[in-house]
Amino acid sequence: MSEKMNMTTRILVWMAAGLILGSLINAFMGQVSWVQEYLVSGLFHVVGAIFISTLKMLVVPLVTFSLICGVCGLGDISKLGRVGLKSFLLFLMTTALAISLAMAVASLIGPGQGFEMAENATSSFSAPEAPALSQVIINLVPTNPVAAYADGNMLQIIFFTIIFGVCILMIGERGKSLIDLAERLNEVMMQVVNIVMHIAPYGVFALMAKTFSQQGLDLIIPMMSYFGAVALVLVLHLTGTLMLLLKFLAKVDIFIFLKKMRAAQVFAFSTSSSNATIPVTLTSVEKRIGVDNSTASFVVPFGATINMDGTAIMQGVATVFIANVYGIELGMMGYLTVVLMAVLASIGTAGVPGVGLIMLAMVLNQVGLPVEGIALIMGVDRLLDMMRTAVNVTGDAVVTTIVARSEKTLNIDIFNDASAGVIDADIHLPHNKG
Ligand code: ASP
Repeated sequence: MSEKMNMTTRILVWMAAGLILGSLINAFMGQVSWVQEYLVSGLFHVVGAIFISTLKMLVVPLVTFSLICGVCGLGDISKLGRVGLKSFLLFLMTTALAISLAMAVASLIGPGQGFEMAENATSSFSAPEAPALSQVIINLVPTNPVAAYADGNMLQIIFFTIIFGVCILMIGERGKSLIDLAERLNEVMMQVVNIVMHIAPYGVFALMAKTFSQQGLDLIIPMMSYFGAVALVLVLHLTGTLMLLLKFLAKVDIFIFLKKMRAAQVFAFSTSSSNATIPVTLTSVEKRIGVDNSTASFVVPFGATINMDGTAIMQGVATVFIANVYGIELGMMGYLTVVLMAVLASIGTAGVPGVGLIMLAMVLNQVGLPVEGIALIMGVDRLLDMMRTAVNVTGDAVVTTIVARSEKTLNIDIFNDASAGVIDADIHLPHNKG
């Protein structure tokens, strides 16, 4: 492979190769035991799992150091409150728009009408209790920050780190060396991200090969109306709603934006986790799009935790689909409840694979639809999870860019520079002068 190829192209090529190989294995070698044992459950599984662990390993230290730098870089506590409020409202708005679009398109298309329900298509599903809003708010505050760090509880980590950063500012001159230290540590973490990007093509290849060798595309055919409706709304939201918001609120070129977000989208697609993608989203937004660390370090991890447009879309279409299959009329109240529940569900749910399906149980419960209906859509959820995670991550970056633009922390020269932040295919190690 040419060394001239930039990293994103390289990752895309390996991703396509994994997809093709996986699909071929699924079609022709599904029963060959050594292929399953040594390749699918062996090599692909191990390489893919190591890759995801490596990404997750970066999240907590990167967010912590980057956020301390961000808070100290703002230098003004009222600015922080403003950025927080703006991003929160924009996140709520994009999710509400996403789910409304999903409900509208799904009502028009009517997925699931005339669907033949298989006899055994029910399984025991228990819906988790909807968390009370008061509890969600109480849970923002960690009782033990070390436990919050150990569990990777992102909202609690953000809460504690912001207070910590603000207090560094408050001790004035004596805090300077701590800020310096956080800046150095942040640089080191960014360097670790660079190194991980170099192994990413192989990790992405393994994840794709494994998923597609287990996931036959033929599963989609009987579910075409549901799968197609979710995919259609995901595309409409990504290229329509989000890009219109970006164009009008951030006033930037949407094609440049999409090009620069490609790496983060590919990572989100192949890992199905907005959380694991944080390191890539953060570096793309800062180095390629040009958002200042003071905005990006806060809004990106915040969004990865509370903003899930793609997940809300799946939940909206799934609700209409299940209501149609069971012949239950949702009614206006039902629709409004779904919109509200899906917005609430996306707050306080971590961006990890498959969680959207679990939260769907909560939404169904709330509107009185049978939770067993989830069994019908489970088969295609793996693929939809990949697609919706890419939309979730794009939504996070769109809001970050809009907030940065309004705070004047978007460097438009970096944004317009096609080569800004591109990781080349070589790792440059410093020479050992010892
Ligand atoms: N996998 C999604 C994410 O990490 C969440 C979900 O919809 O399951 O953003």
